[in-house]
This record gives sequence, structure tokens and C-alpha cells, in this order.
Amino acid sequence: MKQISILVPCYNEEENIRPFREEIRRVFRESFSDKYTLELLYIDDGSRDRTLERIRELAREDPDVKYLSFSRNFGKEAALYAGLEHAFGDYVAVMDVDLQDPPSLLPEMAKALESGEYDVAAARREDRKGEPPVRSFFARLFYRLIRKISDVDIVDGARDFRLMTRQYVESLLELKEYNRFSKGLFGWVGYRVKWIAYENIKREKGNTKWSFWKLFLYSIDGIVAFSVVPAVMAAAFGAVFCAAAFLFLFVVFIRAMIYGDPVAGWPSLVCIILFVSGIQFFFMGVLGEYMAKTYMEVKRRPVYLCRESNLGRRREEDKGA
Ligand code: UDP
Ligand code: MG
Repeated sequence: MKQISILVPCYNEEENIRPFREEIRRVFRESFSDKYTLELLYIDDGSRDRTLERIRELAREDPDVKYLSFSRNFGKEAALYAGLEHAFGDYVAVMDVDLQDPPSLLPEMAKALESGEYDVAAARREDRKGEPPVRSFFARLFYRLIRKISDVDIVDGARDFRLMTRQYVESLLELKEYNRFSKGLFGWVGYRVKWIAYENIKREKGNTKWSFWKLFLYSIDGIVAFSVVPAVMAAAFGAVFCAAAFLFLFVVFIRAMIYGDPVAGWPSLVCIILFVSGIQFFFMGVLGEYMAKTYMEVKRRPVYLCRESNLGRRREEDKGA
């Protein structure tokens, strides 16, 4: 029998751990019981509430429940990576624990993969209902921008919620970068994707972990990870300003020849200096961002540290390495 692994990153989600398992169990009973076995892999991303205790309780009751717990909060991307590394299923799903990713889509996703036509079935929100309008506006702006300046297909409204074949998972794992931006990584590996649209669902218990500021920083991560256009723009701006400067020099020179050299134009000079130095600082920041990311990459720090788990094995050992 084939196995489906479900990876669930959790950060301060004590109320959601059990309801999520119940819901998954129900879907499995109804649609999968004779076809697939289940591996439910919770990744506790350094929660500060009773998340880990809840997971431990579940694991004691249910041998299908596996877990990893990080030494601190490393972020959802790190949790996803850890999950992908440790999942053993033939098909692997990624889901949020807050039930915003409806488990009822799983049978349709599995069907798409079984047909052999697709390598991944991914959920896509039809709308942004229930989201603050300002956030929707900036989210749309971000997707429009990144789709223009990056070669990678990053889809607006795409969730991380997806069911993937083993081959797809292995491909994701080959991307060993430290700064992980999953929406970009999914696009980068390619393969044949079946998109499944669904209506946005509100979170029932607990709170979203994403403040506006966190999302803003995340969007910068995405841009820096999947486009070098901002750095190229520095050079383009430089070229334009050089050309303007030469032109200006010429005009000033001719004017001085004709009208003499009265000291005038101080306000315009101040404006020009402020404007140009502003642009310079901005692009120093942009280049600094690329450099900082490179710095983090070359340090080769691990993406996460595991403090506790019930896997009793490591991926490398399992592979006989
Ligand atoms: N999450 C995580 N680490 C973090 C932040 C979030 O593992 O640092 C998990 C969280 O527990 C949830 C999922 O990532 O299962 C999505 O988070 P959330 O629901 O807050 O995001 P939203 O649905 O609002 O985009
Ligand atoms: Mg959520």
C-alpha cells in the first residue's frame, strides 16, 4: 500500500493540533482507507505554548503521528524543509494546522497524481475574502512586481498547501539554499502542476503568525531570492545619471560662455544633491541586501536545529548512507 505523508508546521497552535488530526482522520476514513496509509508529521517550530505537549499526547495514542520539535522558532520555511527531509510517503502533502487548508481537497489532489499526468496538485485561493484590504492590495502589488522581475513562475493566490510526488520532493530537497522562499522554490523546480481553486477560509482558532511587517520582510526575501533586477537597476540608474550629468555640464558650460558666471541656482543644486544622494543610498541598501543574503548563505548554518523527535531515525541513516 502506498503512503501519504502530511507535513504540518506548527507555531503556538495548541488548540489546533487535535482538531487537525480528527479532520485528517475523517477524510482518510472516507476517501483513502483502503488505498493509502497515513504518516502525520507535525513540526513544532519552537512553540512557547503547550503545542509540543499536545503533539506528544497524540503521538502516544496514535502510531501514525510523528513529530519533530525545533530548539527555537526558525520560521515556517525551515519547518517545511525539515518536514520534507523526514517524510517517507510516496506522496507528500504540506498543510497548515489551522484548517485553512481544507483537507477535503486531498482526494482530488491524490486523483490528479494517480493519473500520472501531474507531479504536484496545489491549492489556489480564488479570492482574498476575509483579508484586510490594505494587505490584499500590497499582496497583489507584490505578485505583479515579482512576476515581472523574476523568471520563476510565482502564482498569485497559491498556497503552500499541495500534494507532491516523491520525485518532486527530492527535487525540492536538492535546493539547499539557506534563505528559503517556498513559493519561488515551487515555481523553480517546475514539473506539471494541477491547480485546484477553493474559497478562502477564515482561521477559527488561534491567530495568524504574520504581521504586516513580517510579510513585508518576507516579500523582500522573495524578491532578493528570485530576481537580480533590483541590483541591475542600480547600474541602469547610474548610467542615466551619468548621461544627465554630462548633458548638464555641457549646458552650464555653454551658458557660462555666453552669459558669464553669476552665482545662481543654489536651491536647484541642493535639490539635485539630495535627490542623487538619496538614490545612491537606496541602491547601496539594495546591494547590501544581496550581500547580506550571500553572507548568510556562505556561512552554511543549518536551516533548523531539532531538539526532540519521535522519529528515532535520521533520513541519512534510513537511506543507508
Ligand atoms: N508557522 C510556523 N512557524 C512560524 C509561523 C507560522 O510553523 O514562525 C505555521 C503556523 O503554525 C501555521 C502555518 O505556519 O500552521 C501558517 O501560519 P498562519 O496560519 O499564521 O499563516 P496565514 O494562514 O495567516 O498565512
Ligand atoms: Mg493560517
